[in-house]
Amino acid sequence: MADQDDPLQKIQWRPHKDTFQPAPAELGALAARYGIEPLGQADSPPQSPQVWFEHDTMRKIRRHLGRDLERELGGLLYGEVFHDPTLGVHIVIVWEALMAEQAEGSPVHIRYNEESWENINRQKRLLDPAWNQVGNYHSHPGLGVFLSGTDLANQRAFFPESWQVALVLDPVAGDEGIWAGPQGTPLDGYRLFSRKYLQ
Ligand SMILES: [Zn+2]
Repeated sequence: MADQDDPLQKIQWRPHKDTFQPAPAELGALAARYGIEPLGQADSPPQSPQVWFEHDTMRKIRRHLGRDLERELGGLLYGEVFHDPTLGVHIVIVWEALMAEQAEGSPVHIRYNEESWENINRQKRLLDPAWNQVGNYHSHPGLGVFLSGTDLANQRAFFPESWQVALVLDPVAGDEGIWAGPQGTPLDGYRLFSRKYLQ
């Protein structure tokens, strides 16, 4: 048992207590419940993650980002995450968007200061505790939709899970784009559902 003297053998990796495991679910059954047709080609596996926004939440995001056409605005997305083990697909259900009210933004950069985080944390306490931080959203007024170097660095640092998304809107041009994961992988899009019509 010479290994017992090896200090490296004493290291025990434990999952961090915040490590979140998406609940297993069947994409087809979930899609039927939400009245959604999953995104992807008929002859290939569906894209992962599938991202579904609650209709009123998306309206709230658009209203928020349309409020300032000079400066970048943004916030965080909260909701549920499931995983279809057969298809290997994550399903992200975005239920709520919390705006970073006090964030200072320039046309190309957004800075969340202490105050904006406190604000978000206050609002977060009122959310369903089962929800997760599923990503972020922000505007690029008049600049088009893409992930900038800063956006990609933020994605790697703060939204590293493959199912954590970045939604970017240009409220001037009316364009939008969505990416996911630490590399900022582009997605085909997202789906909308209404909480009023859940099966
Ligand atoms: Zn950006």
